[in-house]
Amino acid sequence: MNIILLGPPGAGKGTQAQRLVERHGMRQLSTGDMLRAAVKAETPVGLQAKAVMERGELVSDEIVSALIGEELDAMGADVGAIFDGYPRTEAQAGSLDSILAARGRSLDHVIELAVDEDALVERITGRYTCASCGKGYHDTFEQPRVPGTCDKCGSTEFKRRPDDNEETVRTRMAEYRAKTAPILPGYEARGLVSRVDGMADMDDVTAAIERLIAD
Ligand code: ADP
Ligand code: AMP
Repeated sequence: MNIILLGPPGAGKGTQAQRLVERHGMRQLSTGDMLRAAVKAETPVGLQAKAVMERGELVSDEIVSALIGEELDAMGADVGAIFDGYPRTEAQAGSLDSILAARGRSLDHVIELAVDEDALVERITGRYTCASCGKGYHDTFEQPRVPGTCDKCGSTEFKRRPDDNEETVRTRMAEYRAKTAPILPGYEARGLVSRVDGMADMDDVTAAIERLIAD
């Protein structure tokens, strides 16, 4: 199965992707995570992407589509893919079709997480992750069961993203509205889109997605 999770920054894509990975053994393909790894490793792609990401703008279509192709090639042909944060432009949506077709895959679902923009700044400025396993948390909405200790791996180190500040979030939302939201009608015309209420509790969002993919 190949699924796109679509929604603005903070909609809950990463949270829900992590749950699908745990429940179904699927693979999360997050271009944001791939780019952050490249920035950290100071690869040529990372050096090119760093300043763009800090501003909250979009990295070039060629770079992210190449990353997605490489990740798909590195995983088993029978492993399901969850695209998180990709595609983000019309050009990327076109590339994804070709990338999938070349590997004998096709899209099963585009799941739109619908959220109120007002809630997103709070979600993003409160977001942090385990520095060791990457599990996501939130200052208010999802705290570790034992304060300061990751539920999943027991690490006591956490990190926050440099671009998770209010000013950059506003640029990222504007990029979403201008460049990413316009790819939805094309997927709608192909009958692929299902809309899920991303303002619901995390568990209810997960249940709604589970129902969709079970159909
Ligand atoms: P995205 O990957 O779409 O940018 P995340 O999954 O990282 O978004 O979610 C952003 C923040 O909001 C995280 O800290 C997460 O814990 C929290 N969050 C995710 N889904 C919900 C929800 N349904 N209700 C409240 N908070 C949520
Ligand atoms: P994310 O982790 O999805 O919030 O992405 C963080 C940042 O990485 C974005 O603000 C962009 O600068 C960059 N990025 C991630 N995915 C893409 C993509 N598909 N296209 C262009 N830029 C991306």
